[in-house]
Formats: sequence, C-alpha cells, structure tokens
Amino acid sequence: MKVLVINAGSSSLKYQLIDMATEKAIAKGGCERIGLPGSFLKHKANGKEVTIESAMPDHTAAIELTLKTLVDENHGAIKSMDEIDAVGHRVLHSGGEYDRSVLINDEVMKVCENNIELAPLHQPANIKGILACKAVMPNVPMVATFDNAFHATMPEKAYIFGLPYEFYTKYRVRRYGAHGTSHRFVSSEAAKYLGVNPEEGFKVITCHLGNGSSIAAVKDGKCFDTSMSFTPLGGVPMGTRTGDLDPAILEYLAGKLNVDIKELVRICNKESGVSGVSGVSSDFRDLTNASKQGNHRAQLALDIFNYSCKKFVGSYAAAMGGVDCIVFTAGIGEHDEAVRKAIATDLEYMGVSIDLEKNGNPTDGICDITGEGSRVKVLIIPTNEELVIARDTAELASSVK
Ligand code: ADP
Repeated sequence: MKVLVINAGSSSLKYQLIDMATEKAIAKGGCERIGLPGSFLKHKANGKEVTIESAMPDHTAAIELTLKTLVDENHGAIKSMDEIDAVGHRVLHSGGEYDRSVLINDEVMKVCENNIELAPLHQPANIKGILACKAVMPNVPMVATFDNAFHATMPEKAYIFGLPYEFYTKYRVRRYGAHGTSHRFVSSEAAKYLGVNPEEGFKVITCHLGNGSSIAAVKDGKCFDTSMSFTPLGGVPMGTRTGDLDPAILEYLAGKLNVDIKELVRICNKESGVSGVSGVSSDFRDLTNASKQGNHRAQLALDIFNYSCKKFVGSYAAAMGGVDCIVFTAGIGEHDEAVRKAIATDLEYMGVSIDLEKNGNPTDGICDITGEGSRVKVLIIPTNEELVIARDTAELASSVK
C-alpha cells in the first residue's frame, strides 16, 4: 500500500509518498510560493533532487503538479496515480472534537470549517489541501490527522483556564496544545523500546523541542497535560515566540508602544522568544556559536529556554505523581546536547541522571542516554509525524476497502 501524506500551509504544500511495506518515503518534496509569483516545487526521489519552476495559482494546481511529478518518467517514484491507495492530511485543529485520526467525510469537513477561527493561519490551508486532493483524486480514501487530537484526552483540570467558565462554553477558550502527533509517536516508541505496556501506568514526559517547542505529560498512553495552550504561543519560550506571559504586560506595552493588540500578538509570535532575548537568531546553533564568543544575551536566551523546559519537566513529574521516562525529540531535542544536558542534570532528586558521554555522542535512531543508576530512562527519539499520519491513513483506508 502506498500513502500520500499532505501537509498544506498557506502558501506551501509538503508531501511524502510512503510505501507502507517498508514504512519509508519513496518520494518527498514540497511546493512553495503557491498563489505568488515565482512558485516552484522541490522533489526528491531515487536519491535525486529536482526543482521545477511552474505557476501554481492555487492548491489544486500544486496538487496537480505534485502528482504529475510523482509519475514523471524521469524523476517520479510510481508509474501511475492509481498506485496511490490513500491520502493522509495533517490538519491543525479539531477543536477537541476528535481524539484520533478520522476518515474524511462531510461531517469531518464541517468540523474542520467550524475550527477555522481557532487556527486562522493554518486551518484554511489544510482545508484547501483536502479539497484540492478530492478534486484530483475523487475516489481515493482521505484521512485527517489532527495536530491536537492526542491532547483531547487531557482532564478538565488541565485544559480549563482560570477565566469565567462561560468563556469556555461560549467561546471555546481552553488549552488545546499542539505537536500532538509527535508527542503520541515518541511516547509510544518509548514504551515499545522499553518493552512496557504504556497503558499500565507508564508515565513519560515528552520534550518536542524545535523551532516551536512543547512538552507533554503522557500517562497510561494518554496525554495528561501539555505546555502549548489555546494557541502554539503558550508554554516554553521558543525560537521567536514568547511562551507563557502575564497578559497585563500586553496592556502595559500597548500604552508604551502605542500599538494595538494585534500588533502585540504579532510581536509575541514573531519577534520574541530566544530571538527577541538574544537579538542574534532563533536558531540554537547560532545562539551556541554566539555564546561561545562571549555574547551574554545569547547565553541568557539559552538559559531561559532550558530553565523553562526544566520547570515543565519538574511540574509534570509532580502532576503525574512521578515519571518513568523523559524523551527528547525534534530539531533541538535530537541534536542539541547542551540543551538536553541543561534540562536533565541536577534532577537526581527525581531519580533522573544522564550519561554525559552518550548524550554528547548519540547514535542514530533511538538513543538511550540514561545515566548509571538512574531510575528514570532518558531517551532521544527522532520524531516522524508523517509516518504516524501514513499509518493511521493506511489503517482507516483498509477498513473501507
Ligand atoms: P520546526 O518546529 O520548524 O519543525 P525543527 O524541529 O526542525 O523545527 O527544529 C529546528 C531547530 O532545531 C532549529 O531552529 C535549530 O535551532 C535546531 N537545530 C537543528 N539542528 C541542530 C543542531 N545540530 N544543533 C543544535 N540545534 C539544532
């Protein structure tokens, strides 16, 4: 079975064609600048990469070009479109409606549309991606994997804010979280690796640390709490995002800067986090280099990030009544040894220690960096959201064939 995984953004569309027999991508790529002048597609298959410049006025044109490229006799990966058995779509927001992936039908499309106001930047693009695929492949089963579905199992106490309750019932203001597919994948991979049944009391804290970062507490295989909030702006400070912030600061700054709330939220999203603190970059490699050259604010930004992550780890261990495993994943979690060290050291009181040698030279794939005598396992697990979407899609598509 071959599954096409689609991740549609406002002006981009990333894809992977996954052969489920091997669970490997046989082609991957993305269309960029959709609806803008100078649009192009980058495509990788058979060990070769090509860039194709072509006008893509909308997402349907992007899907058409993607499919044409996938069957191209020179750089394609399949002979005919009929080889695509199902399509899995990454969709940002289910508004807490679904706790798992679902086959797309009219009702699911309605849920997607009802949640546009909760994810105005991404959800319309996700819907466009689905509609574009339906137009070109009307008879192929399609599945939606919602980015926050894994967090739908949080208890009320973790997702209701200290606001008037009607703001939740009337306006749906609550914690939704993000990166759910990644937290679900790495927490279940951790259980598999350790040979434990996740549903039998397994408590894991998953640290998805990338350009956007979130931490989740996963108990009995279900999300118990997560750091991202109503939107992906909450939680730990990130590349350019503030993380949690006292809302009174916004009123204070609106007066000082003479700007409106929209502009302030833009600043909180785009000009804050480690980039805002350091004035250097949102990329942790740049910050590490700058810090080595004595840049105090670069080191301060790293310290703030590490400190905030450590606090979430400690609070989630308290919330779950302990922790059996801590997982690091995503760009920073998988590659930045200093961040892992800063978060996981001095936690001996919680039964956590890491092996600094292994942490500094991790092997590819799942890497156990647990220190000697540590009660809590510490693992690096490469995330693979596309594979989760492909697995869910294959399973649901098989059920209708
Ligand atoms: P996104 O949220 O965009 O998916 P990623 O998970 O790809 O982000 O993470 C991107 C971040 O990972 C970069 O901003 C960079 O800070 C960090 N990163 C990637 N590789 C390394 C590395 N070798 N060392 C330190 N940080 C890295």
